[in-house]
Amino acid sequence: MLDILRSIIQEVNAARNLDQALTIIVERVKSALLVDVCSVYLVDQDSGELVLMASDGLLPESIGFVRLKFDEGLVGLVAQRAEPINLDNAPDHPRYRYFPETGEEWYHAFLGVPIIHHRQVLGVLVLQQHAEYRYDEDMVTLLVTIAAQLAGAIAHAEASGGIDGLQGKRRLDGYPLKGMPGAPGVAIGRAVVVHPHADIDSIPDRPVEDVVAEQDRFMAAIGAVKRDVRAMVDNISDALPNGDSALFDAYLLMLDSDSFIGGVLDNIRGGNWAPGALRVVATEHIRAFNEMEDLYLRERAEDVRDLSRRVLQQLQQKQKQGKGDAYPRNTVLVGEEITASMLAEVPPARLAGVVSVRGSSTSHTAILARALGIPAVLGVDDLPVARINEMDVIVDGYSGRVYVNAPSGVKREYKRLKKEEQELSNELQELRGLESLTEDGIRIPLYANTGLVSDIRPSIESGAEGIGLYRTEFPFMIRERFPGEEEQRQVYRQVLEAFAPRPVTMRTLDVGGDKALPYFPIKEDNPFLGWRGIRITLDHPEIFLAQIRAMLKASVGLNNLQLLLPMISTLSEVDEALSLIRRAYHELLEEGEAVVLPKVGAMVEVPSVIYQIEPLARRVDFLSIGSNDLTQYLLAVDRNNARVAGLYDSLHPAVVHAVRLVVEGARNHRVPVSVCGEMAGDPAAALLLLGLGINSLSMSASSLLRIKWVIRSFSRRRARTLAKKVMEMEDPQSIRRALQGALEKEGLGGLVRAGK
Ligand code: PEP
Ligand code: MG
Repeated sequence: MLDILRSIIQEVNAARNLDQALTIIVERVKSALLVDVCSVYLVDQDSGELVLMASDGLLPESIGFVRLKFDEGLVGLVAQRAEPINLDNAPDHPRYRYFPETGEEWYHAFLGVPIIHHRQVLGVLVLQQHAEYRYDEDMVTLLVTIAAQLAGAIAHAEASGGIDGLQGKRRLDGYPLKGMPGAPGVAIGRAVVVHPHADIDSIPDRPVEDVVAEQDRFMAAIGAVKRDVRAMVDNISDALPNGDSALFDAYLLMLDSDSFIGGVLDNIRGGNWAPGALRVVATEHIRAFNEMEDLYLRERAEDVRDLSRRVLQQLQQKQKQGKGDAYPRNTVLVGEEITASMLAEVPPARLAGVVSVRGSSTSHTAILARALGIPAVLGVDDLPVARINEMDVIVDGYSGRVYVNAPSGVKREYKRLKKEEQELSNELQELRGLESLTEDGIRIPLYANTGLVSDIRPSIESGAEGIGLYRTEFPFMIRERFPGEEEQRQVYRQVLEAFAPRPVTMRTLDVGGDKALPYFPIKEDNPFLGWRGIRITLDHPEIFLAQIRAMLKASVGLNNLQLLLPMISTLSEVDEALSLIRRAYHELLEEGEAVVLPKVGAMVEVPSVIYQIEPLARRVDFLSIGSNDLTQYLLAVDRNNARVAGLYDSLHPAVVHAVRLVVEGARNHRVPVSVCGEMAGDPAAALLLLGLGINSLSMSASSLLRIKWVIRSFSRRRARTLAKKVMEMEDPQSIRRALQGALEKEGLGGLVRAGK
């Protein structure tokens, strides 16, 4: 049954529109569960009524016509209660309502379960039977499981249908899609849908003009894959026992098969581009294999997927070489998942905004978007990715709203807000040369977070007093192996030189969790609780020592290096790291290098160290709060998971109290505390951090002038009074409201919403 369920969901996800998705659901559920009727009712967003959208069993003329309010009929009762209703003879029930157009007088047994997505009832899934009969417990739980699994797919199909179908047109016109704010700002531009290279599921349809040229392009890709497969066979056939290379024969057969190749060519003839046509045909084949009873044949589905990926890779390579104008001016990059490398592929002058189904405000994509000053909304799980290529899109990076083909009134308003924003940002430039001083004369140095060499210029131009967090993962990520000591030294030297004499805080390698190195894969069930940051580098002292040596050597003659240790959860990790740092230092001295021992700090991002903050402070020269991970670990909310993104908030009272404990503990040992997580660049949070007694802040360069404006507009005393009030609040919403209210009152409202 699990297999059937899985294959139904796969098919629904691959459906071209909402109608097709619903038809698949009713037909497949009816035949899998051997019932007489299966129907889906969906809530019409405008009228609030439940509409019969699809049925296998009821009379076709009733589809689209039967409508019930939540207080009408049994279907309405299921939606009203948001609970299953299981009856052996429905007509006996007082809420039973008869619709002659359905022909349902024949049916007695009734089982209805709600379809719920993000706590909202989307509709009702109903089974009916001629006989008077009570569905057993297993059937009820099975249908609940099916409805729960289908809810996401239906929500997605509803949004996708949104562009094509009638149902969705009503939903989308004027209705924004909702995600999480990823990077502030407003973008008005054109959607360019991108997909991970060689991931067939997320390839969009696109019209093609020259059908013959597109067919040739596809056949050339097939030819190239055939050559690759033959080369593979030659390569390994000596090493394989006879017969084992037969798998590759199957590949070659498929590459010649009429149903596969012919199917794609036909689809291209219908006007779709080659990657889209390949997706259509490959999905059909994968589904057909998945449905087979025979395990061997079912596994062939993976072969089709693998083969299609190879063909796609060929098509994408050709496309990349041939197309310089893939990104128009005002490109809004849209995708299931936008990675850092996808962002990097777009010429910066053409990139206006970013919208992605996955990710949240502290995912590394969001951090990169903020560093580039590009408005971003992430975690838009109803985004109709496959449908919106080349459509007009508005991205509101403050509220997390995305408008597709917005009505002219909305567009006009956003144009106005964007203009105001530009004016505000010009005004902020005047703060560049000014000190980051509170009204009562307290200096709060503002530093920049960087990771790419290309970040250096914007950081210097923003007036940063140094680098508060240099994420060393990026130079490691863009290579095909661990960079050597000399290679690293050169990269680090560039950064240290660019900022000297201002301090540069370099964090030792923090991979694992959501930051993977392509050449060092780590497979774990719980990567964020696993082998990450300092845990990896202490287990591999050769990697740690090479990095420390490279950093110390890079700082020779400049001496503006500070070291920062990530993911500290236990004091012994600090002791071990310090001892390795000292070892590297002494070795280099012996080698005749004029190195100096830098200041060393620890990141506070795992809750355990908050309860050992004093002994931790005693061991180091400074502390830096990584509020992104601290929030994730304190609240047990994955920072990248859109499903729980609503729970992720660095203004949660628990996080605020944790910051206070750290500041107080560190103060007892005269150890300065900085915040280098995204909280530091959030104007409302920065005001609170000022009041909590933080000594410095480090953020992406694009936020720096905004935060300087906050610091210069308040006194520490006033901020402290506000912080005291906030500490008594019990939920993040009240805290945010209080802080934003204070900013708004001071005339700084333009920092937390679109407009001035
Ligand atoms: C943090 O966790 O807050 C932090 C600054 O580190 P990263 O975002 O790189 O994990
Ligand atoms: Mg972190």
